[in-house]
Amino acid sequence: MEPVSGPNDPRMVEVAVDARIEGTLTYLFPYGDFPFLQKGMRVVVPLGKRKVTGYAVGFPDASEVPQDKLRPVIEVLDSTPLFNETMLEIFKWASSYYLCPLAEVIKTALPSGINLKSKGVLAITDKGQSAILKPKGREEGHKNASSLKGDDLKLLEYLAETGEALPDDLSSSLGSIPESRVARLVKAGYIERLQKMGGPRVREKTEKEVSLAARPPGEEMKKLRRRAPERARLLDYLGQNGPTSFSALKESFKDPGRLIRPLTADGTVTVEDVPVRRDPFSRPLQMSPPPEKLMPGQEKAAGEFIKALGRREFTSFLLQGVTGSGKTEVYLRLIEAAFKKGLGSILLAPEIALTPQLICRFTQRFPADKIAVLHSGLGPGERHDEWWRIKRGEARVVIGARSAVFAPAADLGVIVVDEEQESAYKQDRGFMYNGRDLALMRAKREGAVAVLGSATPSLEARFRSGIEGGHKRAVLDKRVDSRPLPEVEIVDMRSGGKPAEEEDDGDRDSSGALDRVKERDKLIGSALISDRLRKALAENLEAGDQTILFLNRRGVSSFLLCLDCGSRLVCPNCEVSLVHHESRSAAKVDSFYGEPGRDGYLLCHYCGYHMDVPEVCPSCRGVRTAALGTGTELMEKTISVEFPGARILRMDSDSMSGKESWFDCLDRVSRGRVDIVIGTQMVAKGHDFPGVTLVGVILADLSLNMPDFRAAERTFQTLTQVAGRAGRGEKPGRVIIQTFQPDNYAIVHAVSQDYEGFYAREMEIRKAMLYPPFCRLANIRISGRSPEAAKRAAQLLGRAAKSAAGLKAFSGKTKVLGPAPAPIARIRGKSRWMALVKADSPACMGAFLRVVLERYAGKAPPGGTLVEVDRDPLSMM
Ligand code: ADP
Ligand code: ZN
Repeated sequence: MEPVSGPNDPRMVEVAVDARIEGTLTYLFPYGDFPFLQKGMRVVVPLGKRKVTGYAVGFPDASEVPQDKLRPVIEVLDSTPLFNETMLEIFKWASSYYLCPLAEVIKTALPSGINLKSKGVLAITDKGQSAILKPKGREEGHKNASSLKGDDLKLLEYLAETGEALPDDLSSSLGSIPESRVARLVKAGYIERLQKMGGPRVREKTEKEVSLAARPPGEEMKKLRRRAPERARLLDYLGQNGPTSFSALKESFKDPGRLIRPLTADGTVTVEDVPVRRDPFSRPLQMSPPPEKLMPGQEKAAGEFIKALGRREFTSFLLQGVTGSGKTEVYLRLIEAAFKKGLGSILLAPEIALTPQLICRFTQRFPADKIAVLHSGLGPGERHDEWWRIKRGEARVVIGARSAVFAPAADLGVIVVDEEQESAYKQDRGFMYNGRDLALMRAKREGAVAVLGSATPSLEARFRSGIEGGHKRAVLDKRVDSRPLPEVEIVDMRSGGKPAEEEDDGDRDSSGALDRVKERDKLIGSALISDRLRKALAENLEAGDQTILFLNRRGVSSFLLCLDCGSRLVCPNCEVSLVHHESRSAAKVDSFYGEPGRDGYLLCHYCGYHMDVPEVCPSCRGVRTAALGTGTELMEKTISVEFPGARILRMDSDSMSGKESWFDCLDRVSRGRVDIVIGTQMVAKGHDFPGVTLVGVILADLSLNMPDFRAAERTFQTLTQVAGRAGRGEKPGRVIIQTFQPDNYAIVHAVSQDYEGFYAREMEIRKAMLYPPFCRLANIRISGRSPEAAKRAAQLLGRAAKSAAGLKAFSGKTKVLGPAPAPIARIRGKSRWMALVKADSPACMGAFLRVVLERYAGKAPPGGTLVEVDRDPLSMM
């Protein structure tokens, strides 16, 4: 991208301004001051009375605004462009497709730490140095010397002293300095503008660790227990657990800071800053070597992909392979081929699947300095470093989550999207893009090979692999070494999970230990495990094999579930599950509903509604209600009592305090140091544990009842995935699924591991109901503080949409559902409405949405309601 070269007169630059504006703005740029300005650089420009950042995206020859009305660029922030022409085209496409301002697209695509570095600074030149040394006027008749007035001199002296300075620092020390003065001094050659690419501002990350220095003698402890029981409990805790991080203490104590202060004062405990390891992925894992020979299916798929790569033409593939069929191995071969050709590759994986194991498989095959990993565990400085390593062409194999689709890899040959069906690829606010869809778009623009991989492809991807011009499909239908797929059984929980012939024999050898668990917890905990699962677990332990117990809990909070009818308790205002709290928590309570009870209550985390924990289920009058979020916790307790001696590991977002412990856990499991893993989604995805031979799904139907047309698809996918964790090693696997809805087709097909069967059935439903892939969807979301204003806006928008749908261009091709209150009708004090738009093609959808927004824009009611468009939405909430 050559800058416009030419005479010194002002030229124009098109800037995508980081502000709520549609389209781009045109500015002047004094070519003499910024000869280095190119597309892809950040600039500072005036906007009204503000200064804002923007991105240079073009050098127009003409503008609609007369030239003398244009304002000049204030500053250029970069010395090299941050994106090239191809990426710019992708950004423009995305901006138009997702109806999102271009600057916001670009901002999302660049690493968040980008503003930390690269600053335009002012520095004094040699000429400037000598000018302040020589008295005025004696500088051999140089005409500029006389223009060095007092203020200019002060500025030069300041710079001479500091070496260089940011324009802002100058202003704060010397008072406001007009840009024209800086420009004049630059022109005169006294000062210069430099682009400073400072080192990343990364400090060593530390955390506070609390340890017991001296345990008070018994007498004092006794006193303490009476006077300050919490403080005593903290001492006991530290005695038992050893040095503990402050953040971990917060999980067990309400205000550890308050408890600790007096204890540090008298020297009972000490608090130290200890370094936290930053890159948990850097430690070596025990890995089996790369396989020498591919399986026939892998061979065929890899061969086709590599051939397409050789053509350097866009080709997209769907790699549909059952779990453990060696998909990752195929990606690796393809990326190896690209690497050998000197081409770049990007592998996208859902954040949660970016496991050390996956990364190790790459470090086994590629030099470590050629790989860049972009994941959320990195600090902004590190993210930035990784990004620049890619940009400079040092790293050519990029592994990352959603936003890595924008990685500045040059000569891109391959983009792989692993687990393409994952909703983690969709950003759900602001620039609401889908990383998978942009990966396809990018591959198309770059002439690259795109591979979407999955055991359970999204209906959209599977559908597109069956049509003209869609994806080519490669199938791996066998597990590596023909390991059998696990045997899957179902347990109907409606009968309490007890088959008639299998009565409780009552002599579990741990009955003594059971007394230690609270009676209610014991009942609930045991009720969650059917006898069939319990027996299988015992057998598996006996055989020395590993087990995963999976609780498909959505979100991070606990809610109350009736174990008799399966219904949940939801907030009457917000229609979200009420969260169970054992005691007063930091969560906000709405006092309108009175004071919450001391020994447990149910709270809506959105609106503050709360109620006491009911003794019986309001729908079926059953008495077996359980707080399920803590289900994993409860499960851990129950299992540890029922199976004393078993080495148990809980993996969920509560028990994992950071990437490090996540890493440690995976490592412990793969080294066989754990017998039973109890976890949420975290254990379902992507991991490869050869020692696991039994998987128990505690409640399969939690995700079936969501008000979303993809509820069945999601349930099917999760169950298939979690089942796929079993039997990945030498020994065959067994899966037990407990459910209240054993006849639901999603569950039935998951049990038989029959993707095609599920696909056929689900497609019939989608067709009948007209849902994707039979149409395109967009969700117009309306939200506002005032319920009336939001409702009014929704009505007006609805009218705009209905009238637009009547236009000749759209009639019969679009359909508007709603507007209606969103399934979660109020969140954090905002009323929410939505209108779902169906259109028969992406082009039709785009055109239609533009017309609707235009018609609405003229009528938007006052009162600050926000209208956002979510294209190809994955969440209907
Ligand atoms: P997927 O991505 O489909 O779940 P992986 O690529 O992770 O499958 O493969 C599952 C396991 O099989 C891994 O441990 C992998 O190392 C091993 N594997 C893959 N391909 C082969 C092969 N051709 N021969 C032997 N083992 C293989
Ligand atoms: Zn609520």
